[in-house]
Amino acid sequence: MKTCTVREHLLPEAAVGTERKLISVHFGQAATGRKVYIQAGLHADEAPGYLVASRLIELLHKADAAGEIQGEIIVVPAANPIGLSQWGTDTIQGRFDDSDHINFNRRYDELAGELAERLKGKLSDDARTNVAAIRQCAGEILESRRPATEAEALKHLLLTLSHDADIVLDLHCDHQALLHVYMGTALWPDGADLAAQMGAAAILLAKDSGDMPFDEANSKLWWDLAGKFPGVPIPPACLAATIELRGVADTEAPYTALDAQNLYVFLQRRGYLAGEALPLPELAALATPLEGVDYLKAGSAGILTYTKQLGDPVEEGEVVAVVTQPLQNAGQGEKTPVISKTAGVFFARSAERFARPGKIVGKVAGARPLEGKGSYLLTF
Ligand SMILES: [Zn+2]
Repeated sequence: MKTCTVREHLLPEAAVGTERKLISVHFGQAATGRKVYIQAGLHADEAPGYLVASRLIELLHKADAAGEIQGEIIVVPAANPIGLSQWGTDTIQGRFDDSDHINFNRRYDELAGELAERLKGKLSDDARTNVAAIRQCAGEILESRRPATEAEALKHLLLTLSHDADIVLDLHCDHQALLHVYMGTALWPDGADLAAQMGAAAILLAKDSGDMPFDEANSKLWWDLAGKFPGVPIPPACLAATIELRGVADTEAPYTALDAQNLYVFLQRRGYLAGEALPLPELAALATPLEGVDYLKAGSAGILTYTKQLGDPVEEGEVVAVVTQPLQNAGQGEKTPVISKTAGVFFARSAERFARPGKIVGKVAGARPLEGKGSYLLTF
């Protein structure tokens, strides 16, 4: 018997006469207590994730028809109907909410503080019971909260769908990039099979990246609570990761079909789908701290030329790109180098070739935490 159901969730109207909806596709049985949540398009202008999610849903329908879903799997193939509607000068702008300029992948509900208050005296020396109690309490807290705006209602809805999952995967992409993964430090090396299966060229770990992106809203509460209740066992019970599916233009079938297949095999290996998973590939990269990523910034306005290709190893002090200021030297141009502060893998770069001072034009994953990073480790 097929288990798939499609649910429609209406967002509150943001303006008179407007109402947007979100679709979640549910496979398997919630009663199993084993749950996976996958979404795409939270940054609505990042194209590859939609195709990977659709292809994965296609594969899950086949598995469902064969009775091979083991657990509950929810896929939200288009997580941000607000961002999808934001078009300006014929270009989609789906990273920030037009109404308040807040990033759709920041400022999710922080639950650990209220959870700690509510759970005082209620946890035991049994980790499984604690996990169940924390998930139930998190659900109650979310149910009690009343988001004020349409975007807050969207974030609340996504977290309500995902908060009690064992695995949460948020599909994004960068400008031009190799596939890379962000996850919590406490989730490593448990999450190494995900990074290996996806072929991640960089794996970036952080305990707290600074502004509560969606994946951390699901995972960080576990190590926050473990810190607040040191006497009882609280495991990092949600493997949440942000997967950057290469660059915005990487929508070709060889990439998207491969990524969907790799997600499927990962879930199969984890026991959410029947059948024997293919052998686990070797990790393509070492995990490095998010604090070790050098966000390469242009020092002047001009035209960008990269001297390094994605995947190239970079030494500290090495030139990765040059910015040409075309009006200098009586129009002959003057070149300013963009230099890496770390040694590591050059894994992402800008999709456009115009620079201005301070613009991030590339990312190098280094093993050494960089000084002066502060508490905000992500790009804005
Ligand atoms: Zn994104």
